[in-house]
Amino acid sequence: MRVHEYQAKELLERYGIDVPRGGIAATAAEAVSVAKGLGGAAWVVKAQIHAGGRGKGGGVRIARALSELEEISSRMLGMNLVTPQTGPEGRRVRKILVTEVCEIARELYASVVLDRGQQRPVLMVSAEGGVEIEDLAASAPEKIFKEAANPFTGLEPFQARRLARRLGLGGPLIASCSSLLVKLVRAFIETDASLVEVNPLALTKDGRLMALDAKLAFDDNALYRHGDFLPWRDLDEEDPLEVRASKFDLSYVKLSGDIGCMVNGAGLAMATLDIIQHCGGEPANFLDVGGGASAEKVTEAFKIIIEDPGVRAILVNIFGGIMRCDVIAEGILAAAREVDLRVPVVVRLEGTNVEEGRAILSGCGLSLRAAAGLADAARKAVDLARSSPE
Ligand code: GDP
Ligand code: MN
Repeated sequence: MRVHEYQAKELLERYGIDVPRGGIAATAAEAVSVAKGLGGAAWVVKAQIHAGGRGKGGGVRIARALSELEEISSRMLGMNLVTPQTGPEGRRVRKILVTEVCEIARELYASVVLDRGQQRPVLMVSAEGGVEIEDLAASAPEKIFKEAANPFTGLEPFQARRLARRLGLGGPLIASCSSLLVKLVRAFIETDASLVEVNPLALTKDGRLMALDAKLAFDDNALYRHGDFLPWRDLDEEDPLEVRASKFDLSYVKLSGDIGCMVNGAGLAMATLDIIQHCGGEPANFLDVGGGASAEKVTEAFKIIIEDPGVRAILVNIFGGIMRCDVIAEGILAAAREVDLRVPVVVRLEGTNVEEGRAILSGCGLSLRAAAGLADAARKAVDLARSSPE
């Protein structure tokens, strides 16, 4: 689960990390009243969307008068913001963050991610903040410094001081920076985050370190431990089909291709995506209906797949272990009764009750294509997607 910058900053503040003072607004009038409350003569207006690169797309602006702030806010609110990370369709801006302006001396970078190889959280810092870390990792990886943290005790102060020195800091900044880095890792560990990123971590002209931007994602599997974060979920920022799938406890990820996939088991689902690509096709989604899914769940999964307008063929690939093939067949039938089966469907069933499953599907009057094995199923689905009308 991702959250907005202002929510991420609220969390960082709870951990004792400084952020610019600010407030959230949904209208230009609210933005003006936030600015009046902050005082000063200039403010930063920041679009709140779940994507970075806003600065480049016009989603971060400085206003130098209340009238200008009102103008910028009303233009930004409701706009479709396109950044290098949103894709060409962009994101609608529904809220803006209005903050005080910081005088930046240097822009640094800091983030914490899980390093699965080391099985530890890893803190990464760089003196070259402000730019995208992916670009820096490609062009000058030697400018990124890392320390792995103990998942129980966090980052040790000596590790934090080592990184602070590598950032080129000296004097009292070593202590304030290393204390901030320790807090950042603590925030990551205690909230079961999958990403905490501060870019830029600003060194201000008056010698303070501040999180000017913050990106935060939680591990969904641990959200049950963090009920207080649930109100931060913003369904407007999520794919509507993914939201529906999550209500039915389906592991669904929308992809950009045209072959819808319904599979049981995450490993088989990954293999199905691979073999579709191997046959020259592009999957429209990842979907694992799970082990012991009911016919209702299968029905819902099928409806979600078919509601994706990009889908031009569907591949059902079920290996019945715990999941019974007749349950899958019933689910497909129920879905076909409720929605218009506008695309060809290839079905590969194997395993428990496979004969019953095949009998249900072949006697139902729907034009389903049976496949002999996974390779045959993938080839058929790819051919059908190619030849089916736009
Ligand atoms: P992003 O483009 O989505 O990552 O948004 P950021 O919050 O990182 O803002 C982009 C850039 O705007 C930063 O790298 C800063 O250079 C600039 N910026 C943001 N807030 C301030 C501020 O308070 N003062 C100044 N001078 N620049 C700022
Ligand atoms: Mn940023």
